[in-house]
Amino acid sequence: MNRNIFKNCKRLAIMGGTFDPIHYGHLVAAEAAFHKFNLDKVVFMPAGNPVFKKGTRVADKESRFIMTYLAVLENEHFDVSRIEIEREGDTYTIDTIEQVKKLCDPDTKLYFITGADAISYIFSWKEPVRLVSMCEFIAVTRPGYKNCKLFDNIEKLSDKYKNRIHYMEIPALSISSTEIRQRVKHDYPIKYLLPDNVISYIEKTGLYKEEALSREEIMMDFETMRQKLQSSLYIKRYIHTLGVVEEAEKLAKIYGNEITVEKAKIAALLHDCAKDYPTELKMRFCKEYHVYLDEIMKENTDLIHSFLGAEVAKREYLVKDDEILDAIRFHTTGRKNMTLLEKIVFIADFTEKGRKPFDGLEEARRLSYIDINMALTYILECVIEHVKSKGRALHPLSCEALEYYKNK
Ligand code: NAP
Repeated sequence: MNRNIFKNCKRLAIMGGTFDPIHYGHLVAAEAAFHKFNLDKVVFMPAGNPVFKKGTRVADKESRFIMTYLAVLENEHFDVSRIEIEREGDTYTIDTIEQVKKLCDPDTKLYFITGADAISYIFSWKEPVRLVSMCEFIAVTRPGYKNCKLFDNIEKLSDKYKNRIHYMEIPALSISSTEIRQRVKHDYPIKYLLPDNVISYIEKTGLYKEEALSREEIMMDFETMRQKLQSSLYIKRYIHTLGVVEEAEKLAKIYGNEITVEKAKIAALLHDCAKDYPTELKMRFCKEYHVYLDEIMKENTDLIHSFLGAEVAKREYLVKDDEILDAIRFHTTGRKNMTLLEKIVFIADFTEKGRKPFDGLEEARRLSYIDINMALTYILECVIEHVKSKGRALHPLSCEALEYYKNK
């Protein structure tokens, strides 16, 4: 541990992060930067006492160091440093870079890699101008992050600083430490999200296990779900989904309260989360997640995605709320005696603003803002007629729903 790991490098990157825990997103990002910037080495630098994490629970620094150490073991151009772990007081990147500069060769070109979310706030870090003059930054982002407002802030900066901050999109960064911690607490699988030796360490030490979070806390926030979903849908479906979210929010504001709005947005966001899985994968997951497929669903496989979607939302997006799960489950067939949330998602899916015009669309939209049950009945009639005209198998749940609401 005493050898100077910063020596003999022309181009060296420090990979800064809390690494609570380290995961494949971090490792893939470091490897991608290694190749793109023609680096000689990437030194992982687990933060000792992260200043921006005060008030939040962070695993102890030795555990985070050990996990990082285990994760980089097999990569010959990765290393890990204890500089921040051993430094007393708050961890500031400027202090680290100064220390590293003294340890590396005078002509070493230095980079600092970390998450774009963190770098977006760089101008609130300690001595940002001197920091940016001392090393270049590689901001790694999840795909799609470029649209974010925070990111625009950096884009607006003068070229002098902007040119020293590079951006890299890394799809694997849809893995997040937060999600891993929550998964461990609730016994969800974490295999393939981080290296096996790190998983063994977490299991052996019981890290992240204590104090299960409340149901509200376990749910991912909307933004995390949106990012995760984006990578599993075709672009057309993703745009449709955003339309459904917008429409569901509108309806929830008319017919529900604040909680309905929040739930409707999540249910709408996830309503098609399993739709673009290849059929083979859908079948495999149905088996694994015990989704019962009746004869009609086997014949009209289009119906499967909503029932499977509810299970995917539960397992992959950590949704615990049964009302949200039912709104996803019944958004294609409907059923009798639907909850308000089920009605909202069912209707919004039909009327969202991105739908190409078709017979009945405008009338459905008009009704949806006046009388939710009338809109529901009207849409059920349209859907049933459409399914029949296409010669597809009609699910009895839809017929029961129409009967129920017609006579209401
Ligand atoms: P964070 O707020 O925990 O992370 C922000 C986002 O960036 C999260 O999405 C996080 O995902 C991601 N991220 C963090 N490190 C990453 C990495 N190396 N590669 C890819 N994604 C990464 O940020 P943090 O970990 O506390 O801070 C990041 C670095 O900035 C640390 O080295 C820290 O010391 C430095 N920093 C310095 C100052 C200062 O000097 N004043 C202030 C803030 C941060 P995951 O949760 O999945 O990792």
